[in-house]
Amino acid sequence: MLTGMQIAVIGGDARQLEIIRKLTELDSKLSLIGFEQLDHAFSGAIKEKLDEVDFSNIDSIILPVPGTSLDGQIETIFSNEKVYLSEEVLMKTPPHCTIYSGITNSYLNAITKKANRRLVQLFSRDDVAIYNSIPTVEGTIMMAIQHTDFTIHGSKTIVLGLGRVGMSVARTFASLGARVQVGARKSEHIARITEMGLTPFHINDLAQHVRDVDICINTIPHLVVSASVISRMPSHTLIIDLASKPGGTDFRYAEKRGIKALLAPGLPGIVAPKTAGQILANVLSQLLQDDFQSRKGKVT
Ligand code: NAP
Repeated sequence: MLTGMQIAVIGGDARQLEIIRKLTELDSKLSLIGFEQLDHAFSGAIKEKLDEVDFSNIDSIILPVPGTSLDGQIETIFSNEKVYLSEEVLMKTPPHCTIYSGITNSYLNAITKKANRRLVQLFSRDDVAIYNSIPTVEGTIMMAIQHTDFTIHGSKTIVLGLGRVGMSVARTFASLGARVQVGARKSEHIARITEMGLTPFHINDLAQHVRDVDICINTIPHLVVSASVISRMPSHTLIIDLASKPGGTDFRYAEKRGIKALLAPGLPGIVAPKTAGQILANVLSQLLQDDFQSRKGKVT
């Protein structure tokens, strides 16, 4: 339980509602900032404006998945007002206050460092990334169906990268009957791809494998689907780029060649906000309970 813990939830989308639900169930007290237009009321949670919150009592701050923009703005889909997080706000919190975010950027890193507050990036955790790969794959299947006139079954699908997302994508497309080849650079990844019953190739040889590719799914956050690779693809190829912005595809060249290339960020929040929110809520509630217990242990 989180009885007695004070948490500020600042901004976010439908995923944050699952976090709020879970944390109120655990009996924490929540200040909801950037939720004025939310119809639903949660017992134990009050809607406040940033300047109304007494940050000296706040044990944790929960930011939405993207954290902040590079100028400190926080996405608030349940409010018309702009909300900014600054070093000054963080300095008002007690030294033990921890900031939780999906991902971070140079701005968020800098203000948490200057204020000397701990920042936890949930998406850098393996458990969150692996659970999150499930709705990501479902979103990828949705895009493949929407943007092709052939079945996934029987298609030649290339997956680039055998990380947390790449492995789930490769396995699921193979289960749907696609002929899956996976490009990776580590010999252990090549071995794992072989063990999975899929066809491996070294990422440096990508250009030699795309002559008859139907669907190319990239998970590598570096430019790998380059102009020279795209120039060898058949014109019907669909490229779905899952890697974080700006992706790993030369989109300008793909457009010039008339090849459909889609950058598809944030699929879990689009196709399954409830599940994506529950994934974060489960991990977050465990981290907050651990944090709370270790602080209580230090006090007693
Ligand atoms: P990950 O576990 O770190 O996997 C990344 C993969 O890329 C690894 O196999 C890594 O191989 C490979 N890689 C990295 N740099 C490379 C390079 N220069 N050349 C060749 N291979 C390289 O990451 P993940 O969790 O799978 O996520 C992959 C991407 O998808 C990230 O950008 C993430 O933000 C994004 N993502 C998008 C969505 C969405 O909805 N679109 C959802 C979740 C995640 P090595 O081990 O050899 O480095």
